[in-house]
Amino acid sequence: TFKAILVSRDEDKKQSVTITELTEADLMEGDVTVAVEATTVNYKDGLAITGKAPVVRRWPLVPGIDFAGTVLSSDHVDWRKGDRVILNGWGVGETHYGAYAERARVKGDWLVPLPEGMSAHDAMAVGTAGYTAMLSVMALERHGIVPQRGPVIVTGAAGGVGSVAVAILSKLGYHVIASTGRPSQETYLRDLGAAEIIARDELTGPAKPLAKERWAGGVDAVGSTTLANVLSMTAYGGAIAACGLAGGMDLPSSVAPFILRGVSLLGIDSVMAPKDVRLEAWRRIGRDLDLTKLKALSTTIGFDGIIAAATDIVDGKIRGRVVVDM
Ligand code: NAP
Repeated sequence: TFKAILVSRDEDKKQSVTITELTEADLMEGDVTVAVEATTVNYKDGLAITGKAPVVRRWPLVPGIDFAGTVLSSDHVDWRKGDRVILNGWGVGETHYGAYAERARVKGDWLVPLPEGMSAHDAMAVGTAGYTAMLSVMALERHGIVPQRGPVIVTGAAGGVGSVAVAILSKLGYHVIASTGRPSQETYLRDLGAAEIIARDELTGPAKPLAKERWAGGVDAVGSTTLANVLSMTAYGGAIAACGLAGGMDLPSSVAPFILRGVSLLGIDSVMAPKDVRLEAWRRIGRDLDLTKLKALSTTIGFDGIIAAATDIVDGKIRGRVVVDM
């Protein structure tokens, strides 16, 4: 048997979370079985465990949307026993038994190789949040937002996506403006590479259709009025990668930034991203994210700390990334 977290529902749809023991026979269908060595707590995992949003769509379920580990057995042509792999998304931890167990059985098509020179722990310090930050940076680049175009804004900067985005963008030479609701994290954000810090409050009021142009691009992990304000302050021809909803799912904006300034809103999804995009994102993470910064932005917990960290992340109390060493 092995340890696992299970979320269940009773007849009144009341959710409960337990730490339990499972056997390999309990795992869902898949052609590769992996020994999970490291996982992490993303915002979505927080939503799943607390039940604050309908992330879990199969009951009972082992939550956990990403892991890194070693293949134990495989019927998939790409993978053999001993291969080191990463999984992000694909509905794992939502509809398929996920990462919060010492064993996972998944589809081989969902896995990517652990990049050369990266440990399972490093890969989960990046995790889905960091891989999404990289997808966001790649989207800005595709849109031609190079450092010479002007500053870039990162919202929710002290969170997981935000911290990794700040570190990557600064390494690539951008002038990074970090927006945070936690002034106590200013030194942390400057050490990651932020050139300027602005208060979250500056972006949370009702957005004007257009406001003074302040940045050429940005990575937004917050959504809602924050994204609306970010769009209204984006310079002519700029672009914002929208990847999160930590501040809300709504977008109380207008078309003014799009039709009067040619601003673009770039949608970012990590869950169903095709394999070639994932491979490119992980290759770029290996190149454009300093391992020393990755260490600085991550903390490590054990399996028994997952449930508490899940509550903390939904309450906005987690700084950077949390790695779970199995
Ligand atoms: P996280 O570590 O909790 O970061 C979110 C940050 O947003 C917080 O640290 C906080 O930053 C800020 N924040 C929290 N509540 C807020 C509020 N009410 N108003 C304004 N700002 C608020 O979470 P994460 O794992 O980085 O994920 C960030 C977001 O990206 C989540 O919504 C997540 O679901 C989403 N995401 C999407 C994808 C995708 O595929 N599109 C993938 C990964 C994550 P400060 O304290 O610095 O203000």
